[in-house]
Amino acid sequence: MIDLELLQHAVMDSRDGIAIADARAEDLPLIFVNPAFERMTGYSHDEVLGRNCRFLQNGRIDPESRAEMRAALRKGQGFSKVVTNYRKDDTPFWNELSISPIHTERGAVTHFIGFQKDVTQRLLVDEELRARNRDLESAKKALEELVTLDALTGVYNRRHFDDRMESLWKISSRTGESMAIFFIDIDYFKTFNDHFGHQAGDEALIQVAQTLAESFQRGSDFLARYGGEEFVVVACGMDQEPARYFAERLCERVRELDFDNPDTESGRLTISVGYTVVTPHGGLNAQTVIERADQALFEAKKAGRDRACEATGSTHGWAPARRSYEVSRRSNS
Ligand code: GH3
Ligand code: MG
Ligand code: MG
Repeated sequence: MIDLELLQHAVMDSRDGIAIADARAEDLPLIFVNPAFERMTGYSHDEVLGRNCRFLQNGRIDPESRAEMRAALRKGQGFSKVVTNYRKDDTPFWNELSISPIHTERGAVTHFIGFQKDVTQRLLVDEELRARNRDLESAKKALEELVTLDALTGVYNRRHFDDRMESLWKISSRTGESMAIFFIDIDYFKTFNDHFGHQAGDEALIQVAQTLAESFQRGSDFLARYGGEEFVVVACGMDQEPARYFAERLCERVRELDFDNPDTESGRLTISVGYTVVTPHGGLNAQTVIERADQALFEAKKAGRDRACEATGSTHGWAPARRSYEVSRRSNS
């Protein structure tokens, strides 16, 4: 049997609070608390003897914890939970409380012994960590937007387009759905900048992006800024006729914006659109179709700008290189 003096030292020197209540007396009065209990709660041994431990809740009873504890103690079982307690000066602390019954040899409960650990610091650290995690999550989201969105216009950027185009292509290959791809380029934008300044150019780019976004609003439509003043739209499930209508309507809507461009035929800021409608299949890849739409854009420029051209001809062996269409520029540009 262990030395009683040693046992007494263990209880008196413990860093955790220890309290013993008499289970046979009415209302479970405390008959002992150790010095750590006194330090933790601010109550002295003499102040608490004969009282039920609920004074640690300082009148703010947590009904749920109380019911749980009562049910466990009534059955002579142990109980453990982190509860909010209050020191004598009414400051709150988190108490990791663990109560065990002490039985006689015949099984009758004579005492309850409670161990108390002040876990306030640990919980505060946990909460701080959770808050930091939340901050990290929102920083991650902002970062994801940064890498997928174009900073000026707010539409997707080229890099994201490349990734997304590949997956849209695979999906459409599986479903056998048609896909329309539009390449959109602002006409004589260099001279627009020269006339009105780069800032006005930026504003025009934002408005054009906005107009395109408004025109393609289905969840299956995908708009990105492909390069400087060039945009690309992928509309899954779109057939030839609606594609033609959309392309022409885009030219019209941009022409109706409140921007002049002295270098264009109409004197308005205009765009040219090249598009193609395909049904993805094994013999075709996304890159070829992108080049095909880009080539149609070149045809639209060559034919006089401010118009839409659909790609014609076979996809196989399509000439991918984009030639210069400078030759068709008006002589005053
Ligand atoms: P075209 O009708 O043949 O397309 O003529 P263009 O002048 O639009 O074509 P070009 O490729 O010669 O010039 C594109 C211009 O777009 C060059 C650049 O000044 C302008 N640009 C590209 N990115 C931006 C941008 O972010 N902001 C502004 N303000 N201008 C830009
Ligand atoms: Mg241009
Ligand atoms: Mg361009």
